Amino acid sequence: MKGKLQLVMVEDSGPDAELVARNLAKAGLDVAIHRVETESDFIRALQTVEPDVILSDFSLPQFDGLRALDIAVKHASETPFIFVSGTIGEERAIDALRRGATDYVLKTNLSRLPAAVERSLREVSLKAEKAKSDQQRRDQEVRLKRLTRALRMLSSTGSAILRLRNRTELFDEVCRIAADQGGYDRVVISLIDPDARTLRPRAWAGTDSAALRAADCVELDSGTESADMAERAIHSGAPSIHNDLAREPQPWSRHELLIAHDYAAAASLPLLIDGTVIGVVSLFSKQHDVFDPAELDVLLELTANLAFALQYLERDEAVHFLSYFDSLTGLAKRPLFCQRLAQLMSFDAFDGGTLTVVVFDVQKLGAINDSMGRYVGDRLLEKIAVRLRQAYPDSECAAYFGGGTFALMLTGGGNTADTGRILQNAATQLFIEPFHIDGQELRPAIRYGVAFYPHDADAADALVQNAEAALKAAREDNEKYMLFGFVTGRPTSRGLALEARLSGALDRDEFRLHYQPKVAIDSGRIEGLEALLRWQDTEDGVVPPSIFIPLLERSGAIVDVGEWVLLQAVRDMRSWSAAGLPSVRVAVNVSPLQLRRRDFVDRVLASVEPAVTQPCCVDLEITESMLMQDLELSIRKLAQLREAGIGIAIDDFGTGYSSLRLLARLPVDTLKVDRSFIQSIGDTPNIMTLVSTVVSLARAFNMRTVAEGVETAEQLQILRTMKCDQAQGFLFGRPTPAVEVPAAIARLSRSQ
Ligand code: C2E
Ligand code: CA
Ligand code: CA
Repeated sequence: MKGKLQLVMVEDSGPDAELVARNLAKAGLDVAIHRVETESDFIRALQTVEPDVILSDFSLPQFDGLRALDIAVKHASETPFIFVSGTIGEERAIDALRRGATDYVLKTNLSRLPAAVERSLREVSLKAEKAKSDQQRRDQEVRLKRLTRALRMLSSTGSAILRLRNRTELFDEVCRIAADQGGYDRVVISLIDPDARTLRPRAWAGTDSAALRAADCVELDSGTESADMAERAIHSGAPSIHNDLAREPQPWSRHELLIAHDYAAAASLPLLIDGTVIGVVSLFSKQHDVFDPAELDVLLELTANLAFALQYLERDEAVHFLSYFDSLTGLAKRPLFCQRLAQLMSFDAFDGGTLTVVVFDVQKLGAINDSMGRYVGDRLLEKIAVRLRQAYPDSECAAYFGGGTFALMLTGGGNTADTGRILQNAATQLFIEPFHIDGQELRPAIRYGVAFYPHDADAADALVQNAEAALKAAREDNEKYMLFGFVTGRPTSRGLALEARLSGALDRDEFRLHYQPKVAIDSGRIEGLEALLRWQDTEDGVVPPSIFIPLLERSGAIVDVGEWVLLQAVRDMRSWSAAGLPSVRVAVNVSPLQLRRRDFVDRVLASVEPAVTQPCCVDLEITESMLMQDLELSIRKLAQLREAGIGIAIDDFGTGYSSLRLLARLPVDTLKVDRSFIQSIGDTPNIMTLVSTVVSLARAFNMRTVAEGVETAEQLQILRTMKCDQAQGFLFGRPTPAVEVPAAIARLSRSQ
């Protein structure tokens, strides 16, 4: 114990007090005794001395011991009160103890006093410790409860971030979660305006008033000491925390208003993207001291997650944009164009209307590229796109299909007599003026293919295909333009004959599988093979899948052929392993028609069951557009297959509409980045960014990435720096028949 013990002693006799002091000193207690004789002196002493122990005589001429006890119980309830007196009788002693005295010591037995004082002090400190630990426990319980609530809020926002792909929805949901689950009375998310002068609320939840809402809009110009907490958070980039608004040393603009609305604590946390503050999350509570360090940690994580989501929504939108629009021309790509066309056709108002699709290309673009350089060819395509956009401001009505081919959709037309006028008024006009590129004048010759709705087809995809078929026919016949109506009849006799032969191909055992290796980019090791279907036609030789798979899909035969592919792949795997080849995963392509079947899962599992090794080493490649058709059902089917050890890859990623965010919800482990992106990865910065974003986002979602169609060492090097996982393409090997696979693998392992 430090310093002198302070004692207040109610005692009329000086010598008695002396005696007490001497007894305590003798026992080694260092005490200062303040002797009082009256009630008023006693009360004053309690206040000024704040004694550690009170000693009191029982009866005094001007005061009374029991009265002193009552006063002490009232004004200094924690201070031990010891009677030191002559004989008081057992009954009165018990009464005194009952009324709150700690102990009593007879003046005739003062040697007992030091022990009594010490014991009473020990009791006081034990009591204080217990009270302290009780309080701590209560505080801890409260904090734990808050923290559990805060963590629940954090995990809910985490799932909202994955689930929602729209900024407004995300903000609304996070505010709602912070209010409902986080227990805040009011939550506001605000963003800084592009001009950087105003902070504007974008979402809010909780109790509200017009005045509070008005005050959420913060002008970011004061920079003074009385700046709003949100402004301070923005300027400092750190949280602005106010745990007790009533005791704020420096009032600020919204301060009084918050107190008037019964708020006791408030905080603004900055939203940071790449080190720049873009907005704040503001939280208001009617309880003070809610922002303790643990809570703050959770809130910081929450804002960091939210900022990550925002950043990543932006990137996802960019990925989305690039997969909708061609990066060279800025025009819609084919899928978007077809989607738009289908929309137009489905409008009720359009009923009975007609549409014309014109597909055109630049004749001899290849020759322009070869003689003047690819640069000139690309500039020409860009300039054509600019003219198209000027003439057709609706960005989805004109498209670039790649390879120098453009498309336009026009309302009206629909019979051959109109054709000349339509072409005259539409596409042709774009090419009246020559193009100037690098000081050279170019007058490209354009060729057109035209198809009419509903005359030539009643579905968007078919209409576009027919316009392309017309263009192809125009090229073959060296015509300036061709209407689909004139094309039909020409190639169909051949086509029909091919289709007839195809229908018996499975029975005649004319299908073959070829395999193409997938290589780990970092180690160079073969990690898988993709099975690619070939048809050995008796008349046309090997027919490429791009010709016969659409025909198999049209007739529905793809379901059986697809099953044969799976069985054959398993048979091939078994024969390789019998030949001593280490087991390697084989990926098989799956058609939408297969996936859509109710017995899809059972059929796949039955085909794969006799697979050579355990666990299963078969993957399925599925195009993204397919999955989106019946999302929930697809998810269920794929999840079942994955449980059986079958890997799921998204094929041709980037050519459909799906966002990575959506894919992250699917039971998918691999993304195959479409060949069209890999082809231009070296010379189009936009594409490079796109692929690298896809790779890093895929990793964030625990998906592997495979680059398709890698043909050059330069492409491989770029993919390596992006940390793409696998590559597949002619650089490593063309698809080869099953019997040649062991040799191909051996060759690749040697060159590794
Ligand atoms: P896919 O699934 O995207 O297959 C990759 C295609 O890219 C293959 O064409 C392959 O030969 C080609 N390829 C690979 N590396 C390169 C490269 O470096 N450069 C170039 N230019 N091309 C490369 P393939 O074999 O003609 O197959 C075309 C498409 O037919 C496949 O595209 C797939 O969608 C479909 N297909 C093939 N086999 C099957 C099958 O068994 N079932 C189903 N449903 N579809 C199949
Ligand atoms: Ca594939
Ligand atoms: Ca592919």
